[in-house]
Amino acid sequence: MAYDQSNIFAKILRGEIPCEEVYQDDSVLAFKDIAPAARVHVLVIPKGEYVSLDDFAEKAGGEEVAIFFKRVRGVAYQLGLEKSGYRVISNHGADASQMVPHFHVHILGGEPLGGLLARDRLER
Ligand code: AMP
Repeated sequence: MAYDQSNIFAKILRGEIPCEEVYQDDSVLAFKDIAPAARVHVLVIPKGEYVSLDDFAEKAGGEEVAIFFKRVRGVAYQLGLEKSGYRVISNHGADASQMVPHFHVHILGGEPLGGLLARDRLER
């Protein structure tokens, strides 16, 4: 699947639409999810053009992959989640209900998250 530059996270990266930024550096941007599924729900995206985790794992270099996940850890610490715990999710493709075709991971925490596949979004 080719990368679609009109996806909403590409627009956020280009500064065309706003986000609630949590962290940013040369390679990643982290921002609050607009429809939080837990008390803390932050998305971490690479600045490179990757459609999904599958695409990222295939095309990104080893150092880029390592840096990305180190940044995910850093954001979790910045959010104060390292002691209480957190969940990292990445959706690839239709069965996972991937909505935005720019690779991202969800960091969820701030409360007990329950079973792996809690399906309902919270209204907060
Ligand atoms: P996924 O199903 O993994 O593709 O999830 C995409 C996530 O992006 C969802 O949790 C949405 O709530 C979130 N989202 C969509 N648009 C925005 C936006 N403009 N700002 C922040 N989060 C967004």
